[in-house]
Amino acid sequence: MTQLSNFVDGKFVDGAATFDKISPVDGSLVARVAEADEGTVGRAVTAARRALTGPWGRLGVPDRARLLRKIADGIDNRFEEFVAAEVADTGKPVELARRIDVARATANFRSFADIISAAGLDSFLTDLPDGGQALNYALRKPLGVVGVIVPWNLPLLLLTWKVAPALACGNTVVVKPSEETPSTATLLAEVMTGAGVPDGVYNVVHGFGPGSAGEFLTTHPDVDGITFTGESGTGAVIMRAVAPRVRPVSFELGGKNAAIVFADADLDRAIDGLARSTFTNTGQVCLCTERIYVQRDVFDEVAAGLGERARAVRPGRPEDPATTTGPLISVRHREKVLRYYRLAKDTGAEILAGGSIPQVEPALQAGAWIEPTLWTGLGNEARVLREEIFGPVAALVPFDTAEEAVRLANDTDYGLAAAVWTRDLETAHRTAAALDVGMAWVNTWFLRDLRSPFGGSGLSGIGREGGEHSLHFYSEPTNICVRL
Ligand code: NAD
Repeated sequence: MTQLSNFVDGKFVDGAATFDKISPVDGSLVARVAEADEGTVGRAVTAARRALTGPWGRLGVPDRARLLRKIADGIDNRFEEFVAAEVADTGKPVELARRIDVARATANFRSFADIISAAGLDSFLTDLPDGGQALNYALRKPLGVVGVIVPWNLPLLLLTWKVAPALACGNTVVVKPSEETPSTATLLAEVMTGAGVPDGVYNVVHGFGPGSAGEFLTTHPDVDGITFTGESGTGAVIMRAVAPRVRPVSFELGGKNAAIVFADADLDRAIDGLARSTFTNTGQVCLCTERIYVQRDVFDEVAAGLGERARAVRPGRPEDPATTTGPLISVRHREKVLRYYRLAKDTGAEILAGGSIPQVEPALQAGAWIEPTLWTGLGNEARVLREEIFGPVAALVPFDTAEEAVRLANDTDYGLAAAVWTRDLETAHRTAAALDVGMAWVNTWFLRDLRSPFGGSGLSGIGREGGEHSLHFYSEPTNICVRL
């Protein structure tokens, strides 16, 4: 059985207590994890503060970029170990962990090595009324000690999405992975050491949120900023925790994402895209679609096609190539999702597919398996269309005009992502631009250029990360004005 430790100042250290990481596939014990108490979190923050002015602080941009590439190589060298660790924690199909989670982790380090190498800052030569001139130029300085708190759905991908730009800008980090997915953040510590990252630059503290490592990190007086991905409600708690010290936050939070299917869309392609955007990672991606608005003429056809796709999803062991979906992250999370399944039924939803727990082989019955589920017959006023469920589930609603579709899609407290399916260029651009979201796709879903802005508005977050946008959060510019 695996034991996972905290990583503080370049050393693996135990905690005052341990907790068990349980497999969502079959309920077995994956790892016993050392929980960081307040003292351990404090030592991690102190080490990170000290490292800012040590050898790490003296590295220039080319050296830091070289280190980021070495970290990416280090992950590549142990690629299958990372895949196995991610799969053990999440139960997702091996193929998915290879193609998305671990592949994107190396891409994050490599792309931020490129981005920081190419990034400049403003400089202005100003003509003054007396005939003289002033030169303004800005220097980029690290934010300092950054607390990184991430969820369990894409553990390594989301962690490295924040750690890579933080290190690119010269910060040091104290990372708090989800209690559900402690493995890959710990493995990454070994890679950091192997790549020559100085002690104290990358620290890992394990534990939970309230009364545990998460709260100790967000309330620590010597943390300069918090970058957080997780639920909107947790974001609100963290905002209160940093408020007395007025620390910056970057928040990537929940979503209740819409897809809009126009009658002129390539319907095979749209149904394929909707199946991916609803069921990928068992619906546990912040960008997943949970509301599908379909133009009335093609509603029955889209509903029938998507229903077929839902019934074809195959749960099973992660290593079986025939498996197309893993379980939810935990039996506890399944309880939440099933509450919404029951609520939809009680509210009068018609169940197009799924709705309960699937048949799985006896050895997997203690796992967190769930049926992909589709509803019709509900409107935007239903709670299941307003609250994030975070499972493989969507409600289909008909619409008549483009204006109505935009109104329905925007009728939400969230503002993360949306997808538009149409063959008409004008409809595509008009609709995408009218949606109040951070990211809108046209005839696709999940495609990302790592240089483009990522994030959402409303309950979906504060700020944007990605490319230069990340650099804005992870650095503090100083403007210098010289009278010439
Ligand atoms: P969560 O908010 O419960 O937990 C996220 C992290 O915060 C975990 O590490 C947890 O231990 C920690 N945490 C919890 N309470 C805390 C507190 N009081 N103080 C400090 N830390 C605390 O979220 P989750 O259930 O792990 O993840 C699912 C959520 O994440 C969904 O809402 C999903 O939409 C969101 N998400 C958003 C994005 C995005 O980019 N917008 C990406 C992925 C996931």
